[in-house]
Amino acid sequence: MLCILRKRPELISSMRRLFCGEKNRLQSDFVNAAQELITLEKQQIQAVTRGDSDLAQLDLMVRMAQEKKESTKYALMAHLESHACAAGMK
Ligand SMILES: [Zn+2]
Repeated sequence: MLCILRKRPELISSMRRLFCGEKNRLQSDFVNAAQELITLEKQQIQAVTRGDSDLAQLDLMVRMAQEKKESTKYALMAHLESHACAAGMK
């Protein structure tokens, strides 16, 4: 295996891209932001079905979580585009 890598250095850079630490961090940021949004949306649904009158705070938190999810998604997409480390990319 090491012999092959020495003869084909481009394989090493492909493997580095495949196991890109920055991609993993950005994916994890996106998943966390998406889960946070889901949690807040569930709370919002419960508040509405309970008939809570003060929904403004929750509404604001949902909007902020949506923005965070979008920004983490675009950060991940920009990284995948510039670093070409998405699964299946060459
Ligand atoms: Zn990368």
